[in-house]
Amino acid sequence: LIQLYIPLNMLGFVYREIKQGIIDMEAMFAVLDVEEEVKDRPGAPALTVAGGEVRFEDVDFRYDARRGILKGVSFTVAPGSTVAIVGPSGAGKSTISRILFRFYDIEAGRVSIDGQDIREVSQESLRRAIGIVPQDTVLFNDTIRYNIRYGRPGATDEEVEAAARLARIHDFVVSLPDGYDSMVGERGLKLSGGEKQRVAIARTILKNPPILLLDEATSALDTQTEKEIQASLKEISRDRTAIVIAHRLSTVVDADEILVLDKGRIVERGTHEALLDLGGQYAGMWQRQLEAVEAEAKLAEAKLAE
Ligand code: ATP
Repeated sequence: LIQLYIPLNMLGFVYREIKQGIIDMEAMFAVLDVEEEVKDRPGAPALTVAGGEVRFEDVDFRYDARRGILKGVSFTVAPGSTVAIVGPSGAGKSTISRILFRFYDIEAGRVSIDGQDIREVSQESLRRAIGIVPQDTVLFNDTIRYNIRYGRPGATDEEVEAAARLARIHDFVVSLPDGYDSMVGERGLKLSGGEKQRVAIARTILKNPPILLLDEATSALDTQTEKEIQASLKEISRDRTAIVIAHRLSTVVDADEILVLDKGRIVERGTHEALLDLGGQYAGMWQRQLEAVEAEAKLAEAKLAE
């Protein structure tokens, strides 16, 4: 029994690790075939998405009893609009995306999509409606084509390429000796963080979900890669409801509303301009980022002059 126990225990560990990262949920459940913690209500109907309005009403959440993580969080993402969430590390930003995907149930309040409480609909339909571009995409040990097509397994080669173009990864792929047949993943070509994220964006373009959750990578990207990723993110969030967890403030400038989360509470909200005028926490973050960018530019200049 002990022999059986150890691998099962490890599986639990792997499951928790993966779950934490919101890597690729559909793949995770298929590959690991483990029971999900949150259960469907018997006979739960499918979510029906009309415009794709996402609403959090007075949401309280804790991972464990001793510490509240989200406290009275309320916001509405109108159909087709973009809400960006910013705030210090540990504020609870990624937790909001885990809750929307219903990895966990909340303690109090309500989360709904087009008026339907997400606890009342089947998880399968909920997850079909939401496309996630995670911080760290795990690629399968297979070709680039397979990895992109995973977003919609029936897609043709032309559709895969069209998605790759929109995600600004096509030119890179065709520059590889084996093009779309290049093997990637642990045992293949190692892609950079920015390249992996663009593969994830191409996947999501193929999946074509009404609601998007973008968890921007924290890792530093070079300016060109960052520009390309921003352009592709803009492409997929056009005409869709989008929630962006932003680590770079440059991403949020165009958001319809920015939420500043701190210690699990929304402490400021508004457009970029309104928040700059407010001169509070957001304005401070913006100022610090500008200074960091300027310092970097100066450093680069000094290096060139050497
Ligand atoms: P970052 O910008 O660093 O990604 P974040 O704002 O996304 O941070 P979250 O990942 O949402 O922060 O985490 C919020 C808090 O919840 C943190 O203090 C974190 O330590 C805690 N936390 C996250 N996951 C768990 C878990 N599975 N169990 C217990 N606490 C957790």
